[in-house]
Amino acid sequence: FPCDVIRNFSVIAHIDHGKSTLSDRLLELTGTITKREKGVNAQVLDKLKVERERGITVKAQTASMIYSFQGTQYLLNLIDTPGHVDFAWEVSRSLAACQGALLLVDATQGVQAQSISVYHIARERGLTIIPVLNKIDLPASQPEVMAAQMHSTFGIDPKDIIHISAKTGKGVDQVLEAILTRIPPPTASSEAPLKAFLFDSSYDRYRGVVSLVSIQDGILRKGDKIASCFTRKKYEIIDIGIMHPEEEPTESLQPGQVGYIACNMKESSEAHIGDTLHRAGAPVDPMPGFKPAKAMVYAGIFPVDSNDFIKLEESIKRLALTDRSVEVTRESSTALGQGCRLGFLGTLHMDVFRQRLEDEYNANVIVTAPTVPYKVVYQDRTVVVSNPTDFPDSIDSGSKVREIQEPVVSASIIVPQEYLGDMMDLCFSHRGENLDHRFLDTSGSASRVMLTCTLPLSEVVTDFFDKLKSRSSGFASFDYEDAGYKPSNLSKMTFLLNGKPVDALALIVHKSAEQEIGRAWVKKLHKVIPRQIFEVPIQAAVGRRIVARETLSAYRADVTAGLYGGHYERKLKHLNNQKESKKRMKRVGNVDLPQEAFYSILKT
Ligand code: GDP
Ligand code: MG
Repeated sequence: FPCDVIRNFSVIAHIDHGKSTLSDRLLELTGTITKREKGVNAQVLDKLKVERERGITVKAQTASMIYSFQGTQYLLNLIDTPGHVDFAWEVSRSLAACQGALLLVDATQGVQAQSISVYHIARERGLTIIPVLNKIDLPASQPEVMAAQMHSTFGIDPKDIIHISAKTGKGVDQVLEAILTRIPPPTASSEAPLKAFLFDSSYDRYRGVVSLVSIQDGILRKGDKIASCFTRKKYEIIDIGIMHPEEEPTESLQPGQVGYIACNMKESSEAHIGDTLHRAGAPVDPMPGFKPAKAMVYAGIFPVDSNDFIKLEESIKRLALTDRSVEVTRESSTALGQGCRLGFLGTLHMDVFRQRLEDEYNANVIVTAPTVPYKVVYQDRTVVVSNPTDFPDSIDSGSKVREIQEPVVSASIIVPQEYLGDMMDLCFSHRGENLDHRFLDTSGSASRVMLTCTLPLSEVVTDFFDKLKSRSSGFASFDYEDAGYKPSNLSKMTFLLNGKPVDALALIVHKSAEQEIGRAWVKKLHKVIPRQIFEVPIQAAVGRRIVARETLSAYRADVTAGLYGGHYERKLKHLNNQKESKKRMKRVGNVDLPQEAFYSILKT
């Protein structure tokens, strides 16, 4: 396949607008898969169980297709991108291997928050954009209205928009034709020295790291010796081929092609996304660098049964090999024992990871409350703290802490006009600032607005999204991007049982929410902590100040008391039972807590 018959493209869209469905249709239409190979609802490119269950794409997948058009055979490389804000950086890096993108918009919903963000990423990368309106088979679709909206939002000429139904297949052939005629072929040369761009990697138990590369220049063959611009390490290609849609070995990858390589890379940390590979001994200028994945949310993960720690850590490490964007370190807690502290791109990413641990490794885990990375500014240095345990206990004149800063994001929300007021209230109640809005539709009665504001990341990672959806009857869409750090009035809140702090429950809270959060957690604790033989005060404290309190009344623990006159064995059994459950108890001060209590406290 010479370069001029190669097309590298991606489908970009807001979640649920039909990206996976369209990708499947393209694979079918090009004969890459047959209808029978495909389950009724299982999308071929959504491989993980969680992806199928939640209908989201977590990890980008790539597939090559061969298509004959007017007597010429074309090689089309489809690079699937994930469809959730948490994974925006994956979208960006997948697009680096493309020359064009299909911008897919649901004709019943119109332009949504992520349609806008992915459009901008594609524009910044200079890609040819093919606008597509999907779901025109639905009676509720309004292709003309939405085309006008795409014109006013993106300046797209309605004549360029292709109207399709990915479900029935209507219009999908026009999409294929547009890919061939509108997207430019990659500019690569077979004479120039080898230059391959590494844009994704996964881990295979037998072959080690398997990377996806796009060949910028030169030819890559099995047996070739290559080196990394970034690590300078050398490798030999042991396996090479294209994804069609599964791995299909080939002799070589030609200039402009996209495919997989396995090259004896043992550790997944050796495969740097955005790295440039070249022939050993013939270095080239690396491709422009990449923003590495940046963890935005941290949480501790502990086994429900402390004896399972070794097994859990092993499972976490294995799973992290398949997901390079997860950061893993060890953590230990007096209350929960040994565990791991993990960094995620967002809360959905965290939920997906936890679910995969449970599904694929049978793990039973307790996940602590998510924390964002804060900056603690001292006179002479700044420390990033992503665990409340490491946060200064008090921030007064004596503590040398000059300031606390928290990460903020610029958020955009798109809603029908009638919900604008509710959305503004929601943003204010989550400490939103710099609120602004503009109308997206220039005509029509049901006008939609885009609301933008600055929000603390910590507000976004809790229940913001759920509230947004429920207060807009599901109509609001939401997207955000990193906007740096801002000074903020934050402190550490600890929970005391009988005067002793429970480390695993510490939180970082804003001054304005101390009372509310303190009370809510104290109530929750009161509900799940078993009574002890003495009265236990449960308190929420900020520094030395108590902000909320409940009292757990005492309980007579002598379980043998009612058994006088009973059988000796019965009595013994009771005592043994008590011993057994003692083993699973965690002691905080002099209060006994079953590990399960933490599970129910932290679950919600
Ligand atoms: P993704 O999140 O962008 O990958 O979206 P999916 O491809 O998973 O589609 C989301 C939902 O929309 C699924 O239930 C699809 O069956 C449905 N869908 C996709 N395309 C069409 C279409 O053209 N017509 C109709 N009626 N439904 C569609
Ligand atoms: Mg999908």
